[in-house]
Amino acid sequence: MSELQDLYQEVILEHSKHPRNFRGMEKANLQAEGYNPLCGDHYTIFLEVEDGIIRDISFQGAGCAISKASASMMSQILKNGTTAEAEELFEKFHQAVTGKESGKEPDAAGSLGKLEAFAGVAAFPTRIKCATLAWHTLHAALKGDQVVSTE
Ligand code: ZN
Repeated sequence: MSELQDLYQEVILEHSKHPRNFRGMEKANLQAEGYNPLCGDHYTIFLEVEDGIIRDISFQGAGCAISKASASMMSQILKNGTTAEAEELFEKFHQAVTGKESGKEPDAAGSLGKLEAFAGVAAFPTRIKCATLAWHTLHAALKGDQVVSTE
C-alpha cells in the first residue's frame, strides 16, 4: 500500500475533503464542462476574466479524490493571476504528471510548488487523466470551448 499512500499525499486528501472555491459563479464570463469517462469525474470550471486577469475561479461537480483536489488546488493557485500564466502552468503540470520533461526546463517540476504532490500519478497511467481533467477543462474554457472530454 505504500505506493498508494504516496499517490494520495496528505495535501491531496486535505483538498479533496475541503475543496477550495467549490461553488457556482453567476458572474462567470467563461466556463467549460470536463468529463473523464474512464473514472467518472465530471466538473464545470467557472472563470471571471477581465483584461487577461483571472479575477475569480470556481468549480462544481463530482469525482475521485485526485480530480477534486487537483481542481481545488488549481483554483487557489490561478486566482488573480493572468491567463498566460495559467496556460504556462498547465503545460508544466501536464509535463510533470505525464513524466515528460520539456528538456528546455529540467526543473519544471521544481517550479510547481504544491502541485508537485501530483507528480506521483505519473506512475499510475489511469490516474493521470484524473489529475489533469480540471486543467484540460480550464484550457478549454480559456479557448472558448464549452465541453471537453479526456477520452
Ligand atoms: Zn478520477
